[in-house]
Amino acid sequence: MSQTATSGQPVPGDVLDRLKALVGPGGYVEGPEDTSAYSRPWRGKWEGRTPLVLRPKSTEEVAAIVRLCAETRTPIVPQGGNTGVTYGGLPSADMSEVVVSTSRMRRVRDLDSLNDTMTVEAGVVLKEIQTAAANADRLFPLSLGAEGSCQIGGNISTNAGGIQVLRYGNTRNLVLGLEVVLPDGRVWDGLRGLRKDNTGYDMKQLFIGAEGTLGIITAAVLRLFPKPTEAQSAWIAVDSPKAGLDLLVHMKGAMGEAITSFELIRRSIIEFLLTGVPGHSDPLPQAHPWYVLMEVTGQGAVGSLSEPLTEALESAAGKGLVRDAVIASSSEQAKRLWRMREDLPDAQKAAGGSIAHDVSVPLSRLAEFIARADDAIEKAYPAVRPCCFGHLGDGNLHYNPLCPVDWTYERYAVETAAINRLVHDIVAAVGGSISAEHGIGRLRLEENLRYKNPVELDLMERMKRALDPLNIMNPGRVVPDQR
Ligand code: FAD
Ligand code: ZN
Repeated sequence: MSQTATSGQPVPGDVLDRLKALVGPGGYVEGPEDTSAYSRPWRGKWEGRTPLVLRPKSTEEVAAIVRLCAETRTPIVPQGGNTGVTYGGLPSADMSEVVVSTSRMRRVRDLDSLNDTMTVEAGVVLKEIQTAAANADRLFPLSLGAEGSCQIGGNISTNAGGIQVLRYGNTRNLVLGLEVVLPDGRVWDGLRGLRKDNTGYDMKQLFIGAEGTLGIITAAVLRLFPKPTEAQSAWIAVDSPKAGLDLLVHMKGAMGEAITSFELIRRSIIEFLLTGVPGHSDPLPQAHPWYVLMEVTGQGAVGSLSEPLTEALESAAGKGLVRDAVIASSSEQAKRLWRMREDLPDAQKAAGGSIAHDVSVPLSRLAEFIARADDAIEKAYPAVRPCCFGHLGDGNLHYNPLCPVDWTYERYAVETAAINRLVHDIVAAVGGSISAEHGIGRLRLEENLRYKNPVELDLMERMKRALDPLNIMNPGRVVPDQR
Protein backbone atom coordinates (compact mmCIF):
# COMPACT_ATOMS: atom_id res chain seq x y z
CA MET A 1 0.00 0.00 0.00
CA SER A 2 2.30 2.79 -1.12
CA GLN A 3 0.09 5.29 -2.90
CA THR A 4 -2.42 5.92 -0.16
CA ALA A 5 -3.68 9.20 1.24
CA THR A 6 -1.10 11.13 3.18
CA SER A 7 -1.80 11.08 6.88
CA GLY A 8 -1.96 14.34 8.73
CA GLN A 9 -0.90 16.69 5.91
CA PRO A 10 -3.21 19.66 5.42
CA VAL A 11 -4.98 19.54 2.06
CA PRO A 12 -2.92 21.75 -0.35
CA GLY A 13 -4.46 25.07 -1.40
CA ASP A 14 -4.45 24.26 -5.14
CA VAL A 15 -6.48 21.08 -4.48
CA LEU A 16 -8.97 23.08 -2.42
CA ASP A 17 -9.29 25.61 -5.27
CA ARG A 18 -9.97 22.85 -7.81
CA LEU A 19 -12.57 21.25 -5.51
CA LYS A 20 -14.33 24.60 -5.03
CA ALA A 21 -14.40 25.15 -8.77
CA LEU A 22 -16.22 21.81 -9.23
CA VAL A 23 -19.19 22.86 -7.10
CA GLY A 24 -19.15 26.61 -7.65
CA PRO A 25 -20.12 29.34 -5.15
CA GLY A 26 -22.84 28.09 -2.78
CA GLY A 27 -21.52 24.55 -3.11
CA TYR A 28 -18.96 24.81 -0.35
CA VAL A 29 -18.26 26.26 3.08
CA GLU A 30 -14.82 27.23 4.42
CA GLY A 31 -13.21 29.00 7.34
CA PRO A 32 -13.21 27.93 11.01
CA GLU A 33 -16.48 29.64 11.85
CA ASP A 34 -18.59 28.29 8.96
CA THR A 35 -17.13 24.78 9.06
CA SER A 36 -17.44 24.34 12.83
CA ALA A 37 -21.00 22.95 12.64
CA TYR A 38 -19.62 20.17 10.41
CA SER A 39 -16.62 19.50 12.66
CA ARG A 40 -18.27 19.10 16.05
CA PRO A 41 -20.66 16.42 17.24
CA TRP A 42 -24.28 16.99 18.12
CA ARG A 43 -23.43 15.77 21.61
CA GLY A 44 -20.16 14.81 23.25
CA LYS A 45 -16.69 16.09 22.67
CA TRP A 46 -14.81 16.05 19.37
CA GLU A 47 -13.00 19.04 17.98
CA GLY A 48 -12.38 18.36 14.31
CA ARG A 49 -11.10 20.88 11.79
CA THR A 50 -11.50 20.86 8.05
CA PRO A 51 -10.34 23.32 5.41
CA LEU A 52 -13.41 22.69 3.25
CA VAL A 53 -16.96 21.37 3.44
CA LEU A 54 -18.29 20.51 -0.02
CA ARG A 55 -22.05 20.56 -0.49
CA PRO A 56 -22.69 19.00 -3.89
CA LYS A 57 -26.22 19.14 -5.26
CA SER A 58 -26.12 16.14 -7.60
CA THR A 59 -24.64 12.66 -7.94
CA GLU A 60 -22.51 13.96 -10.83
CA GLU A 61 -20.98 16.61 -8.57
CA VAL A 62 -20.26 14.01 -5.88
CA ALA A 63 -18.58 11.80 -8.52
CA ALA A 64 -16.45 14.71 -9.80
CA ILE A 65 -15.34 15.52 -6.22
CA VAL A 66 -14.40 11.92 -5.51
CA ARG A 67 -12.49 11.59 -8.80
CA LEU A 68 -10.44 14.66 -7.96
CA CYS A 69 -9.86 13.44 -4.40
CA ALA A 70 -8.68 10.09 -5.76
CA GLU A 71 -6.32 11.84 -8.18
CA THR A 72 -4.87 14.02 -5.41
CA ARG A 73 -5.10 11.40 -2.62
CA THR A 74 -7.30 13.68 -0.55
CA PRO A 75 -9.21 11.93 2.27
CA ILE A 76 -12.98 12.45 2.26
CA VAL A 77 -15.39 12.38 5.21
CA PRO A 78 -18.99 11.79 4.05
CA GLN A 79 -21.50 13.53 6.29
CA GLY A 80 -25.30 13.55 6.56
CA GLY A 81 -27.16 15.20 9.44
CA ASN A 82 -24.16 14.86 11.80
CA THR A 83 -26.25 13.21 14.53
CA GLY A 84 -24.05 10.09 14.67
CA VAL A 85 -22.69 9.38 18.13
CA THR A 86 -19.45 7.53 17.33
CA TYR A 87 -17.92 10.45 15.41
CA GLY A 88 -17.40 8.59 12.12
CA GLY A 89 -18.71 11.56 10.15
CA LEU A 90 -16.43 14.17 11.73
CA PRO A 91 -13.09 15.31 10.32
CA SER A 92 -9.76 14.89 12.08
CA ALA A 93 -8.24 17.97 13.71
CA ASP A 94 -5.28 18.29 11.33
CA MET A 95 -7.01 19.88 8.29
CA SER A 96 -6.13 16.78 6.24
CA GLU A 97 -9.69 15.76 5.28
CA VAL A 98 -12.47 17.44 3.30
CA VAL A 99 -16.07 16.89 4.35
CA VAL A 100 -18.64 15.98 1.68
CA SER A 101 -22.05 16.90 3.06
CA THR A 102 -25.17 15.55 1.35
CA SER A 103 -27.34 18.31 2.84
CA ARG A 104 -28.21 19.84 -0.56
CA MET A 105 -29.26 16.50 -2.11
CA ARG A 106 -32.83 16.66 -0.87
CA ARG A 107 -35.01 15.48 -3.72
CA VAL A 108 -37.64 12.75 -3.48
CA ARG A 109 -37.08 11.36 -6.96
CA ASP A 110 -40.05 9.02 -7.11
CA LEU A 111 -42.86 7.47 -5.08
CA ASP A 112 -44.30 4.28 -6.58
CA SER A 113 -47.43 3.41 -4.63
CA LEU A 114 -48.01 0.18 -6.57
CA ASN A 115 -44.49 -1.07 -5.90
CA ASP A 116 -44.63 0.43 -2.38
CA THR A 117 -41.28 2.15 -2.83
CA MET A 118 -39.84 5.61 -2.64
CA THR A 119 -36.63 6.78 -4.31
CA VAL A 120 -34.88 9.53 -2.39
CA GLU A 121 -31.59 11.37 -2.46
CA ALA A 122 -29.17 10.83 0.41
CA GLY A 123 -29.70 14.24 2.01
CA VAL A 124 -33.44 13.97 2.60
CA VAL A 125 -34.11 14.33 6.33
CA LEU A 126 -35.76 11.23 7.85
CA LYS A 127 -38.76 13.20 9.11
CA GLU A 128 -39.43 14.48 5.56
CA ILE A 129 -39.38 10.90 4.28
CA GLN A 130 -41.88 9.85 6.94
CA THR A 131 -44.12 12.79 5.96
CA ALA A 132 -43.88 12.11 2.22
CA ALA A 133 -44.81 8.46 2.85
CA ALA A 134 -47.73 9.47 5.11
CA ASN A 135 -48.98 11.91 2.46
CA ALA A 136 -49.17 8.97 0.07
CA ASP A 137 -51.06 6.96 2.73
CA ARG A 138 -48.01 4.80 3.44
CA LEU A 139 -45.63 4.25 6.34
CA PHE A 140 -41.85 4.55 6.30
CA PRO A 141 -41.26 2.93 9.68
CA LEU A 142 -37.75 4.08 10.59
CA SER A 143 -38.16 6.33 13.62
CA LEU A 144 -35.56 7.68 16.03
CA GLY A 145 -34.92 10.59 18.38
CA ALA A 146 -32.78 12.41 15.80
CA GLU A 147 -35.33 12.09 12.98
CA GLY A 148 -35.73 15.86 12.58
CA SER A 149 -32.03 16.21 11.64
CA CYS A 150 -30.57 12.89 10.51
CA GLN A 151 -30.54 12.16 6.78
CA ILE A 152 -31.39 8.93 5.04
CA GLY A 153 -27.82 8.55 3.68
CA GLY A 154 -26.57 8.65 7.29
CA ASN A 155 -29.32 6.28 8.43
CA ILE A 156 -28.35 3.78 5.75
CA SER A 157 -24.63 4.21 6.42
CA THR A 158 -25.16 3.47 10.13
CA ASN A 159 -27.89 0.86 9.55
CA ALA A 160 -29.95 2.80 12.08
CA GLY A 161 -32.39 1.04 14.40
CA GLY A 162 -34.90 2.77 16.65
CA ILE A 163 -38.15 1.74 18.26
CA GLN A 164 -39.95 -0.18 15.49
CA VAL A 165 -37.24 -2.68 14.53
CA LEU A 166 -39.16 -5.52 16.18
CA ARG A 167 -41.91 -5.27 13.55
CA TYR A 168 -40.18 -3.79 10.47
CA GLY A 169 -36.48 -4.60 10.88
CA ASN A 170 -33.65 -2.07 10.94
CA THR A 171 -32.64 0.18 8.06
CA ARG A 172 -31.06 -2.76 6.22
CA ASN A 173 -34.51 -4.30 5.88
CA LEU A 174 -35.97 -1.08 4.55
CA VAL A 175 -33.62 -0.57 1.61
CA LEU A 176 -34.18 -2.23 -1.77
CA GLY A 177 -31.67 -0.35 -3.89
CA LEU A 178 -28.78 2.11 -3.70
CA GLU A 179 -26.87 4.57 -5.83
CA VAL A 180 -23.28 4.91 -4.64
CA VAL A 181 -20.26 6.94 -5.72
CA LEU A 182 -17.34 4.54 -5.34
CA PRO A 183 -13.91 5.64 -4.03
CA ASP A 184 -12.59 5.80 -7.63
CA GLY A 185 -15.39 8.19 -8.63
CA ARG A 186 -17.48 5.70 -10.61
CA VAL A 187 -21.23 5.76 -9.97
CA TRP A 188 -22.90 2.42 -9.19
CA ASP A 189 -26.55 2.66 -10.15
CA GLY A 190 -28.20 -0.02 -8.07
CA LEU A 191 -31.51 1.81 -7.71
CA ARG A 192 -33.62 -1.29 -8.25
CA GLY A 193 -36.97 -1.58 -6.50
CA LEU A 194 -36.88 -5.38 -6.41
CA ARG A 195 -37.82 -7.62 -3.52
CA LYS A 196 -36.19 -10.59 -5.18
CA ASP A 197 -32.94 -10.52 -7.15
CA ASN A 198 -30.64 -13.53 -7.22
CA THR A 199 -28.09 -12.40 -9.78
CA GLY A 200 -25.02 -12.66 -7.59
CA TYR A 201 -23.68 -10.90 -4.50
CA ASP A 202 -26.09 -8.43 -2.94
CA MET A 203 -23.73 -5.44 -3.21
CA LYS A 204 -25.99 -2.93 -1.48
CA GLN A 205 -25.58 -4.82 1.80
CA LEU A 206 -21.88 -3.94 1.77
CA PHE A 207 -22.59 -0.21 1.82
CA ILE A 208 -25.38 -0.41 4.40
CA GLY A 209 -23.74 0.07 7.80
CA ALA A 210 -20.31 0.79 6.24
CA GLU A 211 -20.26 4.25 7.87
CA GLY A 212 -18.99 5.92 4.71
CA THR A 213 -15.82 3.83 4.44
CA LEU A 214 -16.62 2.19 1.09
CA GLY A 215 -18.30 4.96 -0.89
CA ILE A 216 -20.77 7.84 -0.73
CA ILE A 217 -24.41 6.82 -0.92
CA THR A 218 -26.19 9.37 -3.10
CA ALA A 219 -29.70 7.86 -3.39
CA ALA A 220 -31.79 4.90 -2.24
CA VAL A 221 -34.95 2.98 -3.01
CA LEU A 222 -36.87 2.52 0.25
CA ARG A 223 -39.64 0.09 1.16
CA LEU A 224 -43.00 1.48 2.18
CA PHE A 225 -45.68 -0.22 4.27
CA PRO A 226 -49.41 0.21 4.83
CA LYS A 227 -50.07 3.14 7.15
CA PRO A 228 -51.56 1.76 10.41
CA THR A 229 -55.04 3.00 11.13
CA GLU A 230 -55.11 1.86 14.74
CA ALA A 231 -52.52 2.04 17.53
CA GLN A 232 -52.57 1.27 21.25
CA SER A 233 -49.81 1.82 23.80
CA ALA A 234 -49.40 0.30 27.24
CA TRP A 235 -47.11 1.09 30.18
CA ILE A 236 -46.58 -2.15 32.08
CA ALA A 237 -44.79 -2.72 35.37
CA VAL A 238 -42.85 -5.99 35.63
CA ASP A 239 -40.67 -7.64 38.28
CA SER A 240 -37.49 -8.03 36.30
CA PRO A 241 -35.96 -8.19 32.80
CA LYS A 242 -36.77 -11.94 32.80
CA ALA A 243 -40.44 -11.14 33.50
CA GLY A 244 -40.28 -8.61 30.63
CA LEU A 245 -39.01 -11.34 28.31
CA ASP A 246 -41.69 -13.79 29.45
CA LEU A 247 -44.23 -11.06 28.81
CA LEU A 248 -42.81 -10.55 25.30
CA VAL A 249 -43.25 -14.26 24.55
CA HIS A 250 -46.80 -14.12 25.92
CA MET A 251 -47.72 -10.99 23.94
CA LYS A 252 -46.22 -12.35 20.72
CA GLY A 253 -48.38 -15.44 21.17
CA ALA A 254 -51.45 -13.30 21.79
CA MET A 255 -50.93 -10.43 19.33
CA GLY A 256 -48.25 -11.63 16.89
CA GLU A 257 -47.25 -9.17 14.19
CA ALA A 258 -49.29 -6.36 15.73
CA ILE A 259 -46.48 -5.66 18.23
CA THR A 260 -44.41 -2.82 16.80
CA SER A 261 -42.39 -1.77 19.85
CA PHE A 262 -41.45 -3.43 23.12
CA GLU A 263 -39.15 -1.29 25.25
CA LEU A 264 -37.65 -2.13 28.64
CA ILE A 265 -37.03 0.66 31.17
CA ARG A 266 -35.46 0.45 34.60
CA ARG A 267 -37.08 2.38 37.45
CA SER A 268 -33.87 4.24 38.38
CA ILE A 269 -33.89 6.21 35.13
CA ILE A 270 -37.58 7.00 35.55
CA GLU A 271 -36.74 8.60 38.91
CA PHE A 272 -34.27 10.91 37.17
CA LEU A 273 -36.82 11.66 34.46
CA LEU A 274 -39.48 12.62 36.99
CA THR A 275 -37.14 14.78 39.06
CA GLY A 276 -34.83 16.18 36.37
CA VAL A 277 -36.89 16.69 33.20
CA PRO A 278 -39.99 18.89 33.37
CA GLY A 279 -43.37 17.78 32.04
CA HIS A 280 -43.47 14.13 33.11
CA SER A 281 -45.56 12.27 35.68
CA ASP A 282 -45.56 8.68 36.87
CA PRO A 283 -48.09 6.70 34.79
CA LEU A 284 -48.78 4.28 37.70
CA PRO A 285 -49.67 5.05 41.33
CA GLN A 286 -46.75 3.07 42.75
CA ALA A 287 -43.09 2.61 41.84
CA HIS A 288 -42.02 -0.72 40.30
CA PRO A 289 -38.53 -2.05 39.55
CA TRP A 290 -38.88 -2.37 35.75
CA TYR A 291 -41.31 -1.30 33.05
CA VAL A 292 -42.22 -2.32 29.53
CA LEU A 293 -43.56 0.29 27.13
CA MET A 294 -45.22 -1.44 24.22
CA GLU A 295 -47.18 -0.45 21.15
CA VAL A 296 -49.45 -2.52 18.95
CA THR A 297 -50.68 -1.28 15.59
CA GLY A 298 -52.95 -2.58 12.86
CA GLN A 299 -55.16 -1.77 9.91
CA GLY A 300 -58.50 -2.11 11.72
CA ALA A 301 -61.00 0.44 12.95
CA VAL A 302 -59.91 2.98 15.56
CA GLY A 303 -60.07 1.27 18.95
CA SER A 304 -60.14 -2.25 17.51
CA LEU A 305 -56.93 -3.32 19.24
CA SER A 306 -58.00 -2.05 22.65
CA GLU A 307 -59.91 -5.17 23.66
CA PRO A 308 -57.37 -7.72 22.38
CA LEU A 309 -54.60 -5.79 24.18
CA THR A 310 -56.58 -5.64 27.43
CA GLU A 311 -57.31 -9.36 27.23
CA ALA A 312 -53.69 -10.23 26.48
CA LEU A 313 -52.51 -8.15 29.45
CA GLU A 314 -55.12 -9.66 31.75
CA SER A 315 -54.08 -13.18 30.83
CA ALA A 316 -50.40 -12.16 31.35
CA ALA A 317 -51.35 -10.81 34.78
CA GLY A 318 -53.05 -14.14 35.49
CA LYS A 319 -49.68 -15.82 34.88
CA GLY A 320 -47.99 -13.41 37.30
CA LEU A 321 -46.09 -11.56 34.54
CA VAL A 322 -47.57 -8.11 35.18
CA ARG A 323 -47.45 -6.11 38.44
CA ASP A 324 -49.62 -3.27 37.15
CA ALA A 325 -50.38 -1.70 33.78
CA VAL A 326 -52.11 1.20 32.10
CA ILE A 327 -53.34 1.31 28.52
CA ALA A 328 -53.28 4.84 27.09
CA SER A 329 -56.85 6.02 26.84
CA SER A 330 -56.17 8.61 24.15
CA SER A 331 -53.55 9.34 21.52
CA GLU A 332 -52.40 12.28 23.73
CA GLN A 333 -51.79 9.93 26.64
CA ALA A 334 -49.95 7.52 24.33
CA LYS A 335 -47.77 10.41 23.13
CA ARG A 336 -47.03 11.32 26.75
CA LEU A 337 -45.87 7.75 27.45
CA TRP A 338 -43.62 7.71 24.37
CA ARG A 339 -42.23 11.13 25.27
CA MET A 340 -41.04 9.56 28.52
CA ARG A 341 -39.09 7.03 26.49
CA GLU A 342 -37.69 9.70 24.13
CA ASP A 343 -36.57 11.92 27.03
CA LEU A 344 -34.54 9.23 28.80
CA PRO A 345 -31.27 10.62 27.35
CA ASP A 346 -32.18 13.98 28.94
CA ALA A 347 -32.89 12.18 32.22
CA GLN A 348 -29.37 10.73 32.08
CA LYS A 349 -27.98 14.18 31.53
CA ALA A 350 -30.02 15.53 34.46
CA ALA A 351 -28.61 12.74 36.63
CA GLY A 352 -25.04 13.84 35.92
CA GLY A 353 -24.20 11.87 32.77
CA SER A 354 -23.55 8.26 31.90
CA ILE A 355 -21.09 5.97 30.18
CA ALA A 356 -23.08 4.67 27.22
CA HIS A 357 -23.23 1.20 25.72
CA ASP A 358 -25.54 0.17 22.88
CA VAL A 359 -25.09 -3.57 23.10
CA SER A 360 -27.12 -6.48 21.82
CA VAL A 361 -27.36 -9.97 23.26
CA PRO A 362 -29.45 -13.03 22.46
CA LEU A 363 -32.85 -12.62 24.14
CA SER A 364 -32.31 -15.90 25.97
CA ARG A 365 -29.27 -14.41 27.75
CA LEU A 366 -30.44 -10.83 28.21
CA ALA A 367 -31.48 -11.18 31.86
CA GLU A 368 -28.19 -12.92 32.64
CA PHE A 369 -26.27 -10.09 30.92
CA ILE A 370 -27.97 -7.40 33.03
CA ALA A 371 -27.46 -9.33 36.28
CA ARG A 372 -23.77 -10.01 35.56
CA ALA A 373 -23.04 -6.46 34.39
CA ASP A 374 -24.84 -4.96 37.43
CA ASP A 375 -22.85 -7.22 39.69
CA ALA A 376 -19.49 -6.41 38.09
CA ILE A 377 -20.10 -2.65 38.18
CA GLU A 378 -21.39 -2.72 41.75
CA LYS A 379 -18.24 -4.56 42.89
CA ALA A 380 -15.81 -2.30 41.03
CA TYR A 381 -17.67 1.00 41.47
CA PRO A 382 -20.14 0.81 44.38
CA ALA A 383 -21.13 4.47 43.94
CA VAL A 384 -22.04 4.17 40.24
CA ARG A 385 -25.82 4.21 39.77
CA PRO A 386 -27.51 1.71 37.48
CA CYS A 387 -29.31 2.86 34.34
CA CYS A 388 -30.63 0.62 31.63
CA PHE A 389 -33.29 0.89 28.96
CA GLY A 390 -33.67 -0.26 25.43
CA HIS A 391 -35.29 -2.26 22.74
CA LEU A 392 -36.08 -5.48 24.61
CA GLY A 393 -37.72 -7.07 21.58
CA ASP A 394 -34.43 -6.73 19.65
CA GLY A 395 -32.13 -7.78 22.52
CA ASN A 396 -30.62 -4.26 22.21
CA LEU A 397 -29.95 -2.44 25.46
CA HIS A 398 -28.69 1.03 26.28
CA TYR A 399 -26.79 -0.09 29.36
CA ASN A 400 -25.56 3.27 30.65
CA PRO A 401 -24.23 3.33 34.24
CA LEU A 402 -24.60 6.81 35.74
CA CYS A 403 -22.00 9.09 37.29
CA PRO A 404 -21.82 8.76 41.12
CA VAL A 405 -23.66 11.55 42.94
CA ASP A 406 -20.61 13.26 44.41
CA TRP A 407 -18.29 12.88 41.39
CA THR A 408 -17.77 15.37 38.59
CA TYR A 409 -18.44 13.95 35.15
CA GLU A 410 -14.79 14.61 34.25
CA ARG A 411 -13.70 12.29 37.04
CA TYR A 412 -16.23 9.65 35.94
CA ALA A 413 -15.16 9.90 32.30
CA VAL A 414 -11.64 8.78 33.28
CA GLU A 415 -13.21 5.38 34.04
CA THR A 416 -14.77 5.03 30.56
CA ALA A 417 -12.30 2.48 29.21
CA ALA A 418 -12.44 0.38 32.40
CA ILE A 419 -16.25 0.38 32.49
CA ASN A 420 -16.44 -0.41 28.77
CA ARG A 421 -14.17 -3.37 29.43
CA LEU A 422 -16.33 -4.67 32.29
CA VAL A 423 -19.53 -4.38 30.27
CA HIS A 424 -18.19 -5.55 26.91
CA ASP A 425 -16.41 -8.59 28.35
CA ILE A 426 -19.77 -9.77 29.67
CA VAL A 427 -21.44 -8.95 26.34
CA ALA A 428 -18.85 -11.11 24.59
CA ALA A 429 -19.26 -13.91 27.15
CA VAL A 430 -23.00 -14.16 26.46
CA GLY A 431 -22.54 -14.10 22.67
CA GLY A 432 -23.50 -10.46 22.09
CA SER A 433 -22.30 -7.46 20.08
CA ILE A 434 -20.71 -4.28 21.45
CA SER A 435 -22.73 -2.12 19.05
CA ALA A 436 -26.28 -2.77 17.96
CA GLU A 437 -27.13 0.76 16.79
CA HIS A 438 -24.48 3.43 16.92
CA GLY A 439 -21.74 1.70 14.98
CA ILE A 440 -17.98 1.75 15.32
CA GLY A 441 -16.99 5.15 13.91
CA ARG A 442 -13.88 6.35 15.67
CA LEU A 443 -14.97 5.74 19.26
CA ARG A 444 -15.34 1.97 19.17
CA LEU A 445 -12.51 1.13 16.78
CA GLU A 446 -10.08 -0.28 19.35
CA GLU A 447 -12.89 -1.97 21.23
CA ASN A 448 -14.10 -3.71 18.07
CA LEU A 449 -10.61 -5.03 17.37
CA ARG A 450 -10.71 -6.71 20.74
CA TYR A 451 -14.06 -8.43 20.34
CA LYS A 452 -14.68 -8.99 16.62
CA ASN A 453 -13.87 -12.37 15.19
CA PRO A 454 -10.37 -12.12 13.60
CA VAL A 455 -11.46 -13.85 10.39
CA GLU A 456 -14.31 -11.35 10.04
CA LEU A 457 -11.94 -8.45 10.72
CA ASP A 458 -9.58 -9.76 8.04
CA LEU A 459 -12.46 -9.96 5.55
CA MET A 460 -13.51 -6.41 6.40
CA GLU A 461 -9.98 -5.11 5.84
CA ARG A 462 -9.74 -6.96 2.52
CA MET A 463 -13.02 -5.46 1.35
CA LYS A 464 -11.84 -2.01 2.35
CA ARG A 465 -8.61 -2.46 0.39
CA ALA A 466 -10.45 -3.90 -2.62
CA LEU A 467 -12.93 -1.04 -2.88
CA ASP A 468 -10.75 1.78 -1.62
CA PRO A 469 -7.11 0.91 -2.43
CA LEU A 470 -6.05 4.56 -2.04
CA ASN A 471 -7.70 4.69 1.38
CA ILE A 472 -9.36 8.05 0.78
CA MET A 473 -12.91 7.17 1.87
CA ASN A 474 -13.40 7.96 5.55
CA PRO A 475 -10.04 6.45 6.50
CA GLY A 476 -9.49 5.19 10.03
CA ARG A 477 -13.16 4.64 10.78
CA VAL A 478 -14.70 1.13 11.28
CA VAL A 479 -11.51 -0.65 10.14
CA PRO A 480 -8.05 0.44 11.28
CA ASP A 481 -6.28 2.93 9.04
CA GLN A 482 -4.84 1.07 6.06
CA ARG A 483 -1.88 3.42 5.67
P1 FAD B 1 -24.00 11.35 10.23
O1 FAD B 1 -23.87 11.51 11.70
O2 FAD B 1 -23.79 12.56 9.40
O3 FAD B 1 -23.01 10.20 9.73
C1 FAD B 1 -22.98 8.93 10.34
C2 FAD B 1 -21.99 8.03 9.59
O4 FAD B 1 -22.47 7.77 8.27
C3 FAD B 1 -20.61 8.65 9.42
O5 FAD B 1 -19.63 7.64 9.47
C4 FAD B 1 -20.66 9.26 8.02
O6 FAD B 1 -19.39 9.33 7.42
C5 FAD B 1 -21.56 8.28 7.29
N1 FAD B 1 -22.41 8.87 6.24
C6 FAD B 1 -23.35 9.83 6.37
N2 FAD B 1 -23.95 10.06 5.19
C7 FAD B 1 -23.38 9.21 4.28
C8 FAD B 1 -23.57 8.96 2.90
N3 FAD B 1 -24.48 9.62 2.20
N4 FAD B 1 -22.80 8.03 2.30
C9 FAD B 1 -21.86 7.34 3.00
N5 FAD B 1 -21.64 7.55 4.31
C10 FAD B 1 -22.38 8.47 4.95
N6 FAD B 1 -29.27 5.66 16.09
C11 FAD B 1 -29.99 4.52 16.03
O7 FAD B 1 -29.59 3.58 15.34
N7 FAD B 1 -31.16 4.37 16.72
C12 FAD B 1 -31.66 5.36 17.49
O8 FAD B 1 -32.71 5.20 18.09
C13 FAD B 1 -30.93 6.59 17.56
N8 FAD B 1 -31.42 7.61 18.29
C14 FAD B 1 -30.72 8.78 18.33
C15 FAD B 1 -31.24 9.85 19.06
C16 FAD B 1 -30.56 11.05 19.13
C17 FAD B 1 -31.16 12.17 19.90
C18 FAD B 1 -29.32 11.20 18.44
C19 FAD B 1 -28.56 12.49 18.46
C20 FAD B 1 -28.80 10.15 17.71
C21 FAD B 1 -29.48 8.94 17.65
N9 FAD B 1 -28.99 7.86 16.91
C22 FAD B 1 -29.71 6.69 16.84
C23 FAD B 1 -27.72 8.00 16.17
C24 FAD B 1 -27.86 8.71 14.81
O9 FAD B 1 -28.98 9.53 14.77
C25 FAD B 1 -27.97 7.70 13.69
O10 FAD B 1 -26.75 7.01 13.63
C26 FAD B 1 -28.28 8.30 12.32
O11 FAD B 1 -28.57 7.22 11.46
C27 FAD B 1 -27.14 9.11 11.73
O12 FAD B 1 -27.60 9.83 10.58
P2 FAD B 1 -26.90 11.19 10.13
O13 FAD B 1 -27.50 11.64 8.86
O14 FAD B 1 -26.90 12.18 11.23
O15 FAD B 1 -25.41 10.67 9.85
ZN1 ZN C 1 -31.75 2.79 20.75
